Amino acid sequence: MNKKFYITTPIYYVNARPHIGHVYTTIACDTIARRQRMLGADTYFLTGTDEHGQKIERAAQAAGKTPQQLADEVSAEFRAMWDRMGLTYDDFIRTTSDRHKCGVQELFRRLRDNGYIYKGTYTGQYCVFDELYVDAAGPGAPCPECGRPTETVHEDNYFFKLSAFQDKLLQLYSEQPDFIRPETRRNEVISFVRSGLRDLSVSRSTFSWGIPVPDDHKHVIYVWLDALANYITALGYGSPDTKLYDKYWPADVQMVGKEIVRFHCVYWPAFLMAAEVPLPKGIMAHGWLLFEENKMSKSRGNIVRPKTILDVLGADALRYFLLREVVFGQDGSFSFDALVQRYNADLANGLGNLASRTLSMITRYFRGEVPYPSAAVAHKSSDDAIAKAAGKAIAEFSTAFDQYQFSRALEVAWGLAAAVDKYIVENEPWALGEKQDEESRSRLATVLYTSAEALRIVTALAHPVIPDAAAKIWVQLGLGDIKQFALSDLKWGQLHLGTKLGKVEAVFPRADKSAVERMQKMEDQGRPAPAATEAQAPASASSASGQFATQAATPAEPKATSISPDGKISIDDFEKVELRVGQVKVAEKVKNADKLLRLEVDLGNEVRQVIAGIAEAYAPETLVGRKVVIVANLAPRMLKGLESNGMIVAASPEGGKPVLASFLEDVPVGTRLK
Ligand SMILES: [Zn+2]
Repeated sequence: MNKKFYITTPIYYVNARPHIGHVYTTIACDTIARRQRMLGADTYFLTGTDEHGQKIERAAQAAGKTPQQLADEVSAEFRAMWDRMGLTYDDFIRTTSDRHKCGVQELFRRLRDNGYIYKGTYTGQYCVFDELYVDAAGPGAPCPECGRPTETVHEDNYFFKLSAFQDKLLQLYSEQPDFIRPETRRNEVISFVRSGLRDLSVSRSTFSWGIPVPDDHKHVIYVWLDALANYITALGYGSPDTKLYDKYWPADVQMVGKEIVRFHCVYWPAFLMAAEVPLPKGIMAHGWLLFEENKMSKSRGNIVRPKTILDVLGADALRYFLLREVVFGQDGSFSFDALVQRYNADLANGLGNLASRTLSMITRYFRGEVPYPSAAVAHKSSDDAIAKAAGKAIAEFSTAFDQYQFSRALEVAWGLAAAVDKYIVENEPWALGEKQDEESRSRLATVLYTSAEALRIVTALAHPVIPDAAAKIWVQLGLGDIKQFALSDLKWGQLHLGTKLGKVEAVFPRADKSAVERMQKMEDQGRPAPAATEAQAPASASSASGQFATQAATPAEPKATSISPDGKISIDDFEKVELRVGQVKVAEKVKNADKLLRLEVDLGNEVRQVIAGIAEAYAPETLVGRKVVIVANLAPRMLKGLESNGMIVAASPEGGKPVLASFLEDVPVGTRLK
């Protein structure tokens, strides 16, 4: 029988709309769940919403709704967002559901029957915002968690004998050092418990939005006891059908944000011990996601909605960014700039470019069939080095990932991709492809096989993090459904000779400079923009190697300053782009850059040097005298050490060669296009 794996997110409180912080936790869990499934574990992934409590009751009142209406609305938003992101949860629990209510009441009965619940009077402070009892504080004292003034509560309540668990909890932490991760959180919890635990009020009687205490309906169960129980009620705890509970509990990992560590690492195990329910194997606390170094909060108005990022860059970009950029467990910073930079560097120019060029060359030189890494004569030690690096990457990725070091794991996988890039540059398959002798063909086969096999391994490793793109690359590699692949078997050499590639298409279109401003604007306006990533040609000629300018010049990059929310520019914006008719005076190949041509173009009043990625489509001598369209006011840029002063306009068919824009009628040099 397969190993089982049960993972939970915290359930999200319905007082806030889903934002990127909620997404962060859920993405981390989704990634872990996906990897476990690929490793063959029988995986169960739970998420949901926390819907009771005084705060919800008050928020609903303020909005003129019933608490249930408010909960229904916000819970549905969470679920819709998770679905839009393609998150692979197996169950979505709501604490207002009957199955949950029954389970919570059963848990309460067990605690009472086992002698851990008693009736008493609570007089003290309560923070409604955190739904937290604040002991040892005077009336009006600020909440230690959020700083808001606490309210004085005087109630006859049911109490849970938390004090009875102080030693047992300390014993748990010391016997199972992995119970709380990371170490900093563990130390905080230990010192909190050592400082002494008081009994905990576990019911409220001054409001009614909660689950009634069994046999005493004047009281509702404390919202945290209610909420924490979701992890077992979702599996059927306390119901007649405990199949899932018997199979999956205890949880293998319960993911939480660091602000709710105390509830999960102190109260939760104490409740479970008292009810004689096995404890989860571990609680993993992640840090906060800051926005440009500040904590995201409603009052700061800097909460980022996931929708904005999904609309512009897609879910994979967000998943990759959050797991790559932030050291899991520590606080991390989010900014649109950093997101777009990572996207372009690691996804568009990194993995995306590696995939498209490797697969395009196989398509071009071997009719789209994976060639065989050839005989001794065409074999070099650099081929073995890639195979070795791949084996090492598989091992290191697994070790890091299994310790929730996602950033490190991705660094390892992308390190392999970078090594393959370098390998391709050094082996110049495009030059080999021009030759017809047998040795060159063999060498070309070996280089492309090695590159494709390494690409396959990076893709398999990255799949849990970037599921959509990885699935597409897998299909392009001719390997079918990536979900069927057994990750535990992953090793070098599994790519078979003659595998027929699928249609090669870009998986990560490069994001242009306006992406940041568009996302910022969408956040500011709270309105969606329809435009997805610009399907613009990758400007990869400016990448480090300069070797892979697969596209010729592209139309001028839109100026971001005045793009409307629907992605349209005004005529004034278009006017800023100075397009002119030029005539090619000189055309020659650029040394060490197979795709680039150096042109001297007459614009009527001056002659410009333009470097264009059109060498594969046009022999230099055919261009001399030809009239072309030039973006004349583009800032100069360096390509292969040569300054390009302007850009030549061409159509760039996907996977095909660039085609220069030209005129059927004669037109004077220097004429402006408008
Ligand atoms: Zn508070």
